Amino acid sequence: MSPPETKISPLKNSVTSLWGVGAERAAQFARLDIRTIEDLLLHRPRRYEDRRHFRSIAELTRDEPATARGTVVACGLKRFRKGARSVFELILDDGTARLHCRWWNLPFMEKYFAVGDEVFVFGKLVETKPRTIDHPETEVIEGGEESFVHINRIAPVYPLTEGLPQRWLRGLIWRTLERFERYIAEPWPQGGDARPARPSDKTDAPAVRPYPNLPTRANAVHMIHFPEELTDVEIARRRLALDEFIALQREMQLRRKKFEANAKALPCGGDNRLMKPFLARLGFKLTGAQTKVLREIRADMNGLPSPKGFGTAGAHPMRRLLQGDVGSGKTVVAACTALMALEGGFNVALMAPTEILAEQHYANFQRWFDRLRVRVALQTGSHKTAHDVRRVPCSVKEQPDDRKTLDATRNTQHTSLFIGTHALIESGFAPEDLGLVIIDEQHKFGVAQREQLVRKGRYPHLLVMTATPIPRTLGLTLYGDLDVSVIDELPGGRGRIRTFVRMADKLPKVWEFIREKIAAGRQAYVVYPRVEEQDTVNDIKAVTKEFENVQRALAPFRVGLMHGRLKSREKDEIMAAFRANQIQALVATALIEVGLDVPNATVMLVENAERFGLAQLHQLRGRIGRGAHESQCILISNSQTAEARERLKVLEDTTDGFQIAEADLKLRGPGELLGRQQSGMPRFRFGNLVEDLALVRRAREMVLAQGGAS
Ligand code: ADP
Ligand code: MG
Repeated sequence: MSPPETKISPLKNSVTSLWGVGAERAAQFARLDIRTIEDLLLHRPRRYEDRRHFRSIAELTRDEPATARGTVVACGLKRFRKGARSVFELILDDGTARLHCRWWNLPFMEKYFAVGDEVFVFGKLVETKPRTIDHPETEVIEGGEESFVHINRIAPVYPLTEGLPQRWLRGLIWRTLERFERYIAEPWPQGGDARPARPSDKTDAPAVRPYPNLPTRANAVHMIHFPEELTDVEIARRRLALDEFIALQREMQLRRKKFEANAKALPCGGDNRLMKPFLARLGFKLTGAQTKVLREIRADMNGLPSPKGFGTAGAHPMRRLLQGDVGSGKTVVAACTALMALEGGFNVALMAPTEILAEQHYANFQRWFDRLRVRVALQTGSHKTAHDVRRVPCSVKEQPDDRKTLDATRNTQHTSLFIGTHALIESGFAPEDLGLVIIDEQHKFGVAQREQLVRKGRYPHLLVMTATPIPRTLGLTLYGDLDVSVIDELPGGRGRIRTFVRMADKLPKVWEFIREKIAAGRQAYVVYPRVEEQDTVNDIKAVTKEFENVQRALAPFRVGLMHGRLKSREKDEIMAAFRANQIQALVATALIEVGLDVPNATVMLVENAERFGLAQLHQLRGRIGRGAHESQCILISNSQTAEARERLKVLEDTTDGFQIAEADLKLRGPGELLGRQQSGMPRFRFGNLVEDLALVRRAREMVLAQGGAS
């Protein structure tokens, strides 16, 4: 019964090694991402048709698509005089009624049917007199050797691509299963139950089973294609989804284990000699949530074993995800964490996704750390302090030749905080004694980038921060190798943010409203979506044109323009002017989505809001509501569809980032929620990140119990 021992599984062979699959079919398969036999066996049916019991044609309804079968009694193509329009019509009879099937403008359908054919038809009625279905899915019933694959059973219906026939594919998968099912190995010791489990089954198998109530992987693959009952499908899907989650968790735990085996925590977070004066002069008290999170961080930084989780006892460097909604005050937590490392005598690197944000952090940390005599240096793509940064070992003062490093070296403290964009990874940046890496807005980076920066040091502590509230399933999937701290409280004394969704025809009134607010002393953001991921020439053109409109609409108030193609110095100047309220309104691309902090800006207008994801709009909206004044966010929808407006209304109703992220995940899937940058995102065939939280947890527990990998 056990699968034959082979070094390389035959499942890894190309589909072209299968009988009947040549170059043309292989090209069609490639479009479906099917390259190996394994890919083919994991090609997931789109739906199932119970071909044991049919609706009679008389029972078909308008509401619910269903399968019927009947005999073709007439068929014909009708062309209309004008244009190329045509309709091909097929009339089926099953003894209870007649059914008209119509295909518009698909004249070639004619060649697939003949009077006397038996046909399966799937769809719902568009008319009842006569009973009519438009563009149904059909399959001619053929007798012959393999007919049992297609009829009198629950038949899988697969996603196809042009030229690939449903029936042929089903036959191929059946034959491939027959030959290769025995090579489908259990990825986990001991495997699953030997026979398909049904909820009604009694459990008489051994007490400890890795997959209680789930079939073996081979059985699951069989069941996903050819289930005996429709309830088998979900059971099989769960098993295959669990395998996907386990594979991912294993990989993550392996990475973590490797890391822990080698890494000893650097002793950080000692004597508070920097922390105390920092907190004393901060101007506000930390929130309870910030304090709680800092306690968790300090335990890691001190090198205390983590309380639960990763098996290996002993002190290893911190690897922690700090989650907190926009405005929850993650920057201050980052500053305190940095101080712990600096107190320990180590350098710190902080990476932010945009130059503007890096500059802002640079300004803040300089202001905070100057009096503590901690050097702060900046490195972005346009601030080329690369050489200076590289050559500044932590204990040597060098002659500065750049304004940024000048500021940095004025202090006498021997350790430094290096702030930068991804330029930190790409350049020769390699500080001595790197004790801590902080990554702001982690969701804008990939896992690989984060690890690249970590590798610049010898096992530094790692703190990654994100404001995208990540639903639990995603968090465990993407960040399963990190411990998590959550700031679940906003600082007090904040004005409320109210959000309104408006159609474009209300714009004149909106401008009037913004003018009033500016007249009262406030400032505004006006945001245009980017069409592409990066600021493209066209986007710049569009936003530049809009900029002129906004200037007219808000004159005589001063308006600034900010986009990704500006020189860094120009961006600096505009941001500085906006901060100083020399500019009252800032027109920008979604570049400002992360991190900016200008408390007097209380109004935000977002154009073409339907082009943004909800989570992204929530981030954008986090730019306002940072001061004591009440803030307003106006989302202009140019979409005519009620659906798009409904989606935006979620933002009118809630400011809870988690709810919004869940809604986004359901509506648009994980890729959109995380942004395309998250290219490390694995593709799941069977796992569902919205619904499979329990399975993700189980996979994680199974892998942890095994000590990571076997
Ligand atoms: P985010 O979590 O979005 O990165 P920031 O760190 O930018 O948020 O903080 C937002 C604003 O709140 C900043 O102006 C910051 O100075 C302020 N802030 C942070 N913590 C507190 C606090 N405990 N009390 C009052 N204001 C705070
Ligand atoms: Mg921030």
